Amino acid sequence: MKGKIHSIDTFSTLDGPGIRTVIFMQGCALRCKYCHNPDTWAIDSPDARDYGVEELMEVIIRNRPYYEASGGGITFSGGEPLLQHRFIKEIFEYCRQEKISTAYDSSLYISSQVVLDLIPFTDLVLADIKHINTEKSKSLTGVDNRLNLENIKLLNESKVRIWIRYVVLPGWTDAYEDLEKTALFIRNLPMVERVDLLPYHSLGSHKWKLLGLEYPLHEVKPPSLSHLEELAQLLSSLSQRPVYLA
Ligand code: SF4
Repeated sequence: MKGKIHSIDTFSTLDGPGIRTVIFMQGCALRCKYCHNPDTWAIDSPDARDYGVEELMEVIIRNRPYYEASGGGITFSGGEPLLQHRFIKEIFEYCRQEKISTAYDSSLYISSQVVLDLIPFTDLVLADIKHINTEKSKSLTGVDNRLNLENIKLLNESKVRIWIRYVVLPGWTDAYEDLEKTALFIRNLPMVERVDLLPYHSLGSHKWKLLGLEYPLHEVKPPSLSHLEELAQLLSSLSQRPVYLA
C-alpha cells in the first residue's frame, strides 16, 4: 500500500504534544476560503510523492529519541489525512507495535466509520471546528458541519483525547453568538483537553494565484491580538477549557 504525501516535517512542536514528525497528506475535498495549503487539494497532484508503509516507518522511527525525550510522536495532517485512512491505519498499527504515539489533525468531514476504524490506534485527535453554524459552514468550507460535529462527539464517547482547533477569521467565525455556541458544544465533551485559536493569516494567498485561483479573502485583515485575547477569554470561561493562541 502507498500513501500520497505532500511533505514531511520531521521536527514540529506545533502539532500535538512534544516533538513530532508531521506527515502532510495530499488531497482534500473541502474548499475553505482561508486555506493556506490549496496545493494539497488535488489528490493526483504531480508534486506529491508516493511512500510505502516501510519507507515512511523508516522516516518515523529515525526520530524515536526525540519522541521519547519530549513525549512526542507522529501526526498526520494535510490536506485531509483521513481521505487516505487505510494507509494511516497501517502506519498507526505499526506505531502501536513500536510504542510511538499517534495523532491526526482533521476537519472530520468524513464517514464516521472511518473515524471508528482508527480509534483503537489513535492517541489524540486535533479536531477542527470550522463553524458551529451549518449555513455559515457551507459558505466557509463548501460543506455543512454535520459530520464534523458528529465525529467529534463520537471521539468523545470513545474516550479519545481531543484538542480543538478553531480559525479566527474576522467577519466569518468571530461572532459572539457563534463563539458562545461553540464553547457550549465543547463544554459537554469531557475528552476535549484544550482549544487552540488560530488567527487567520493570508500567507498562503500566493499559492492560490500560482494555481490560477482567485483568493477570496483579499479584503479581510488578520485579527488583532486584543481581539484574539478577548475571544480566548470568552471561549475559555464558557467552555471551561484552557484556550491557547497559536
Ligand atoms: S480542510 Fe484544511 S486543507 Fe482542506 S481546504 Fe480546509 S484548510 Fe485547506
